[in-house]
Amino acid sequence: MEPSPDQHAARDRIAAELAQAGFALPGTLIVRSYPCGKPGCRCHADPSRLHGPYAEWTRKIAGKTVTRRLTPAELTEYQPLFDNAKKLRALLAELQDLTMAMISEPSSHQRKPPNRKAALRKVRAAPA
Ligand SMILES: [Zn+2]
Repeated sequence: MEPSPDQHAARDRIAAELAQAGFALPGTLIVRSYPCGKPGCRCHADPSRLHGPYAEWTRKIAGKTVTRRLTPAELTEYQPLFDNAKKLRALLAELQDLTMAMISEPSSHQRKPPNRKAALRKVRAAPA
């Protein structure tokens, strides 16, 4: 494995950005609205008025998936920490793709997943 000058430069850039990393939370943050189970509720009317939006933080704790609803104040406080984590994941993926190119393996971006489910599994398997 012999990195080219371009590949060295790309690694240096990624490493410099990683060195600026801020505090980061694990898991995923999803803000969503949804209908409830009560028949006749406003969320089932036409036009429907869904409940929410609610901010839900999903992560693994001791191997179990745990979802917690954040308060608006928590969402405001934690949002940058989720954004930092997302940026870190993107930088790591970029570094991994760069390295994959050096060992002449097909990168995960070049290979088509056999179906959507497999693609989803891959996304979930990404570091939290
Ligand atoms: Zn409802």
